[in-house]
Amino acid sequence: MTDHIIHNGHMNNGRPYEVIDGKRVNVRKRVYCEYHNITLKPDERIILTCKVPRCINPLHMEIIKVNDLLNKVRRVIPMLSEYQREIIFLSDKTDKELAEEFNVPKSTINRIRTRRTRACSSN
Ligand SMILES: [Zn+2]
Repeated sequence: MTDHIIHNGHMNNGRPYEVIDGKRVNVRKRVYCEYHNITLKPDERIILTCKVPRCINPLHMEIIKVNDLLNKVRRVIPMLSEYQREIIFLSDKTDKELAEEFNVPKSTINRIRTRRTRACSSN
């Protein structure tokens, strides 16, 4: 790996930025695009691979698609089995209690319960 190139200017939320014509510009994005002579597509973001927050070496960055990021986050959420869904549906605990018990977001519990309720009431 080549050496880090350290940005000595402004930082915002761990990201180096510079001010050009009164506008804040993401330094990593500018450097990466200039180096590879490309423009980022709307669903693309630059991520730093070397974990040095002030590093702006284009060789220490890569492009990631926003959808890939979202998929990574989704994959972390454990899947519930049919049996677990049944328990959630039949339980008289609150959504919050069940969310903690099954280690899933409250919205997942809520979705299981409301979907099943709707399915039953249509009979
Ligand atoms: Zn670096």
